[in-house]
Order: sequence, then C-alpha cells, then structure tokens
Amino acid sequence: MTANKHEFKAEVNKILDLMIHSLYSNKEIFLRELISNASDAIDKARYESLTDSSLAEGGDEWKIQLIADKEAGTLTIRDNGIGMTRDEAVEALGTIAHSGTKEFIQMLESREVENNPELIGQFGVGFYSSFMVADQVTVITRKAGADASHAVVWKSVADGSYTLDDTEKESKGTDVILTLKEEAKTFLEEWEIRKVVKQYSDFIEYPVVMDVTRSTPDPEDEEKTVTEIKEEILNSRKAIWLKSKDEISDEEYNEFYKHVSHDFSDPVKVIHYRAEGTTEFSALLYLPEKRPHDIFYQDYKIGPTLYVRRVQIMDHCEAMLPSYLRFVKGVVESSDLPLNVSREILQENKVVSVIKKNLTKKVLDTLAKMKKDDAEAYATFYEEFGRILKEGIHHDFERRETIADLLLVESTSTKPGETTTLAGYVDRMPEDQKEIYYITGTDRASAEASPYLEVFKEKGIEVLIMTDDFDDIIISGLGEYKEKPFQSAIKGDLDLGEGDKEEQKKEFGDLLELMKEELKDLVSEVRISGRLTDSAVCLVAGDHDLDPKMAKMFEAMGQQVPQGQRMLEVNPNHELITRMKQLFAADSDSAQLKEYAGLLYDQALLLEGDKPRDPVVFAKALSKLMAEGVSAS
Ligand code: ADP
Repeated sequence: MTANKHEFKAEVNKILDLMIHSLYSNKEIFLRELISNASDAIDKARYESLTDSSLAEGGDEWKIQLIADKEAGTLTIRDNGIGMTRDEAVEALGTIAHSGTKEFIQMLESREVENNPELIGQFGVGFYSSFMVADQVTVITRKAGADASHAVVWKSVADGSYTLDDTEKESKGTDVILTLKEEAKTFLEEWEIRKVVKQYSDFIEYPVVMDVTRSTPDPEDEEKTVTEIKEEILNSRKAIWLKSKDEISDEEYNEFYKHVSHDFSDPVKVIHYRAEGTTEFSALLYLPEKRPHDIFYQDYKIGPTLYVRRVQIMDHCEAMLPSYLRFVKGVVESSDLPLNVSREILQENKVVSVIKKNLTKKVLDTLAKMKKDDAEAYATFYEEFGRILKEGIHHDFERRETIADLLLVESTSTKPGETTTLAGYVDRMPEDQKEIYYITGTDRASAEASPYLEVFKEKGIEVLIMTDDFDDIIISGLGEYKEKPFQSAIKGDLDLGEGDKEEQKKEFGDLLELMKEELKDLVSEVRISGRLTDSAVCLVAGDHDLDPKMAKMFEAMGQQVPQGQRMLEVNPNHELITRMKQLFAADSDSAQLKEYAGLLYDQALLLEGDKPRDPVVFAKALSKLMAEGVSAS
C-alpha cells in the first residue's frame, strides 16, 4: 500500500455498496447532490469573504460550472467556493460525518432500507451518490485563501479505498470529475443535463452554467453553418422563498424541501409567508413526513436556514424555533439583521425573538388547522412527531394550552391505535365527573390490565392511556385542561369505590393499623382504597410524587430522585380482606396476619410488574399457603 492510499470507513463501504447495487431509480439525483454541495461551498466562501475579502480571491463571480467531455467520458462539476484542505477532504470524503453512526449502520442493514433505498437520503450521503453513475470519481480541491500549490487530488473507484495526493490548482474551489459508467453516458448530453438541472436545482441561487454549442446558418454563405460556443445559465436562480406563492408549483416546493432537508420524501405541509410590519421577513417552512433518525440526539441541528439579504448566514438557526418544533425545516430571510451576526448575538437579538414568536405561532396554527381539516393526516403526522411536540407543554409555559389542544392520546374508550383529543375527552365527561383521569405506563395492554383501572372499568369511566416515558411530567406540568384538573389513576387518593369510605375506615381501622406497623419500613400509609374492585391491594404514589415508571427511568440515567414512600391501598370489599378482619377480631396479635401483610405487599409489587422483595421467601410462603389449602379441601 502506498502512503497516499486510504481505506474508507466501514460505513462508507456499506453506503457505496448500496449506492451501486441497490439504488436503481432516480440516478439523476447525483447531480442535484453535487450541485447542492457546490452551492453550500459557495455560500461558505461568500459568507467568510464578508469579513476576509482575500478569500474572494480577486473576484466574486460565484458560479457552478458543468463540463461535459464526451471524448473523455467525464462530467465535471466545478465550483469556486470554499474548497477543502487535505484534512477536510479526508474527513468529508472518507467518513460519514453525522451522529449516531451505529444506528445508521443498523438502519442500512435493515429490511426497511433494502425495500426503500431512498431512506438513506436523510443521512446526508450526498457526495457518495456520484458512484451511482461513475466508475471513478476524482476530486481536485483547494481551500480559498491557500496557495495554488496547496491543492489535493482525491480519487476512488469505490473499491474500499481512495488515494490522496498533492497537486496544484490555480483557482480556489472544487472540481468533482465523474468518469461515467457506460449506461450513464446520457448525462453528457446537453438536453439531459438541462432537464436535470431544471428539475432539481432551478432555485439554486448561483448560476449553474454550461458551455453549449450552437450552429447557426452562416449569413455569408447559406451552404455553411457557424458553430459558436457560449456559456449558458441553466437555472432560473430565483430564491424560491422570495417568489410569490402563485409562481411556485408543488414540484418546486417539494424539490426545494429536499434541498434544505436532505430528505427524500415530499413534505406533508408547506408554510410560506411574508411578514410585513416592524419586523419584515420571509419564511418558507416545511413539515416533514417522517421523523429523521437522529432527532432525539443532543446534537440534532434545530432551526431554519437563515439568510440576510440573500446571503446565507447559517444553515441551522436554532434561535428561530423552539426545540419542540425541531422537526420543522426551511428557510427564513430577513433584512433587519446585520450580515455579520453570530450565534451568540442571535440568541439575544430582539428581531430574532420576534421572528421566533411569529414562526412558532404559524407552525402551531398550521397544525391546529391540519387537525381540524384532515384528522387522518394529522394523526399520521402526530405519530411521527407528537412526542416531540409534547415537549412544548413542559418548555413553553405560555403556549401550553395551545399545545395541549394538539395532543392525541389513546384512552380506554378508543380502539387500540386510535386516539382522542383532550377536548374530546372533556366533551364526553359526565357532568358529575370533575377530573380528567389518566394512567401512565409502558404500553396500553399492561396499563389496561393493571389493578389501577379496575374501578374505572366497572363504572365505565374513560381514562387516558399515556405511554411516552415523560408523560407524567408533561401532565403534571399542564395541571389542568379546560379548567378540569388531571388525576392520575395510579397516584393520590381516589374515591370511586363501593361503600361509604368513612364507614369502612372505621370498620377496618385496627386491621390497617396492624398492617401499617408491620410494613412501616416499606410504606407510608395503609388505607382503604377507592380504586380497587377485583384485586385485594395495590401500591399508590402521592399526588406530587413521580410515577414509578419515571422514577425508574431517572434511576437508570444515574439520577437520584427524591421519592416519597408509597401507600398500600386495601380493597375492603375483597374476601381476603374481610376474612383478615375476622381473624383480627378473633386474635389481634395473630402471627398469620403479620405474615399476610408482608405477602400482600409483595403481591402489590407483582401487580405493577415488579418482583417481590425476596422471590424465594415469597415462593415458600405461597407454597405453604397452597399446601394448607390443599389439605383443608
Ligand atoms: P453533506 O453535504 O450532507 O454534508 P456530502 O456527502 O454531500 O454530505 O458531503 C460531505 C462533505 O464534503 C460536505 O459536508 C462538505 O464538507 C464536503 N464537500 C462536498 N462537496 C464539496 C464541495 N464542492 N466543496 C467543498 N466541500 C465539499
């Protein structure tokens, strides 16, 4: 192996393999990807040359040039953008630079991708798509501002490695030279190139140019023709977000979405408007169809691309959108901001906070409208993004009611997989029901089977079933909806059971005292339950405690949670409990009763899907009881 030969990272090989062997349709998108990279590179050069004019290198006639060489069988995509240093080329063209590489590889190997190879588009693998049409790819690049002798040439035939050598390059920027496969030679034809540029890159801000040969009759000799080579601009270049709506077709909107989002699917909604008044800006935002794989990562990039007077300032301006709307993609252009804004300035900037407020409202309004006009489409959208949207209830106090209106929740009255709105729940509440009941759990089936819902089932009271891990925090934060307070089915005191609770308290008081004494290190209270009908006991947290699922989640994350001791609730109508009361009346110091108290506590643990404190002791006690039962019968 020569010194200049480098191996691709494993994930790159996987990508290349997919590109070459699985992606058969839409091969022409390689050109969109390369033009988009060229345009990004010019954006960077243009932005940096605002503060360092030497980077423009004597001219800022930014452009992207396509050179089709039929003899050599090559198509070159040339830009005069920022270029790459040697190290940058190694990083950018030898690895896949995004978070969650492990998940990414898993995803690559999954059936889902095998059947829908376009899914890999969302991972930003743009450059490698060259190998769909080229046997060999050569990249000659020089960083803007570097010496002409400091250029590098990168070359690969997608055989697991690439070479990197020093070279000279007069002008700054990058040439990507594709040696086209035989079957891809159509991409050397002028009409084909025109068509693809028009279709996918028309809105690119910089001119995409190509030399075209035109033959016209010779005015001096009609028998002859004159051929003329002229550079032509192939794209219309109009910033799509500055155009008026009626000038833009759905296809154009969708293509632009793919350009800004790196998504391969069409968006589900387009939000395009111009705000006039004290703060003026244009916004073109999109709601995607599918959740990006990395949306839950810390370093997920939030916010639209920001332009100031047609100059791209940053590709993700996180100060423009709250993180619970991080699925929104698009562009915002404002002329009220200075060109040299930094991220820090943006966080504090008044104009930015006005825009953020406005965008947030617009997105939430759009979702509300979608929910009203097309419930099915909204439900599909919610399935992908509801969990993220919901974070807003916790983080955006001012808008928590508005966001609560957008929630969709399963309930004991919906079919599995179907949902209700909170408003729907409240509408169905019988007049004498004062609270909105909800249960948190890992899944619907175990929530429904839990003892906590017994009395609700018996009385036909609807309970919301919430299965996202942070739901308890969200609902506690919300507190109430349409002036109806939320009440957890697994927390606090409920009074829905049979019989007069006050009477029962008196009747069972002494027995409960005995149990409490026996369990004093384990529970804070033993009391009559207003929620059980079938089970004898259950454990309940205080109204203000975290539910056990959340507490476990925090523990798993290594955090200590201050958790009050729980309470053991006892069903006074259960045969076992009435028998225990009789036993107590006969012998208030019964050893058996004390043993049963411990067993009931373990049972309560089992009922919520936990283990008894000591499974061996529990099994022994149970066997003993069963043996007694067998011999008694
Ligand atoms: P993405 O564009 O999504 O980052 P790509 O695979 O298309 O993914 O490109 C990887 C990286 O290579 C880019 O982020 C950029 O740093 C670099 N790159 C690609 N093309 C160019 C170019 N024409 N000029 C400068 N850098 C480029």
